[in-house]
Amino acid sequence: MSEPFTPIREVGEFGLIDRLQAILGEPADPDLIMGIGDDAAVYRLPDQETVHVITSDALLEGVHFDRLMTPMEHLGYKAIAVNVSDVVAMNAEPRYATITLGLPSKISVEMAEAFYRGIRRACEAYGLTLVGGDTTAAHALCISITVVGEARLDEIIFRRGARPGDLLCVTGDLGAAYAGLKILLEERKALKEEGLNYKPDLEPFRYVIQRQLLPQARLDVIRDWRQRGVRPHALIDISDGLASEVHHLCRHSGCGALVHAAAIPVALETRDVADRFAEDVDTYALFGGEDYELLFALPPDQLERLDPLSFNVIGEFLPAEHGVQVQTPEGAVIPLDPAGYQHFRQEEDGEADLLG
Ligand code: ADP
Ligand code: MG
Repeated sequence: MSEPFTPIREVGEFGLIDRLQAILGEPADPDLIMGIGDDAAVYRLPDQETVHVITSDALLEGVHFDRLMTPMEHLGYKAIAVNVSDVVAMNAEPRYATITLGLPSKISVEMAEAFYRGIRRACEAYGLTLVGGDTTAAHALCISITVVGEARLDEIIFRRGARPGDLLCVTGDLGAAYAGLKILLEERKALKEEGLNYKPDLEPFRYVIQRQLLPQARLDVIRDWRQRGVRPHALIDISDGLASEVHHLCRHSGCGALVHAAAIPVALETRDVADRFAEDVDTYALFGGEDYELLFALPPDQLERLDPLSFNVIGEFLPAEHGVQVQTPEGAVIPLDPAGYQHFRQEEDGEADLLG
């Protein structure tokens, strides 16, 4: 009998992780507080009060970025920022990073140095130190970073913990990184068609392109919360798109939620991009990934402690039987499709190649 062959596309990224996790089994380590399944793993140190959080994220050429459109210095910054974002999403401070670099022969020493200038800038911005790694030859540029962060155990905020009645809140604005990607893909196409004569005018899209190429982890937000005595019940960063992350919070917390699409903050430039492509900007805001903003469940009695300019209330948590729903700007209430960006699930076109 031949071995079964299930294409990974059939189970998707999260389905695959579930099956691999089942092989590892339940961890028996009493110091492990959170293993697979949150933004970062959490384990206790011998003093019993301090915990470390640990997370890894990779950026691969042709999957996450196109070298034609990505300055090496930006790439270095982004590689650190996306990892710091997962540490921040546990409400912890980043401390140390290691990096594994796979370098194809087309990368020069000078390009690697430019990449490290970006790494250094991000390490300075977020207060962490790169302490080692590994370097190997590869067929395409591969970057994998691990970041360790630190917190007191009682400061950690998980994906679970949201309760019916909590407010669903988000920092910053959404959909801009996806809008930036749309513009960059359009530019790449024009460059390919028109060759070196092509003179791009990216000035009207500065903000969205920056959101795509140079995302920021919201360490500033969790530090501000600490100052104000704010402690959300549940927290996640938005890497795969708002809809997908709302589903994660609800599944882990055993809740439902209602999202008000009209309340989702969207930058003017993001609207301009959606108009340019004759697309619905709500789709960008709900399903566009890589904004790295924070999504959190706030008990209403903490509302007044927050700076009102630093976040938006975009919905509320409900009992589980309500499911996860969205109220469209026209007023209809419909189930919210979780389909954010999932590796292996997308159509194999050029655009999907550069998401996630
Ligand atoms: P995020 O989008 O926050 O980076 P992911 O969706 O990548 O989170 O991962 C979800 C969870 O699955 C995390 O706890 C992560 O550590 C874990 N995970 C991802 N890939 C693997 C793998 N191949 N083996 C074990 N755990 C994994
Ligand atoms: Mg995350």
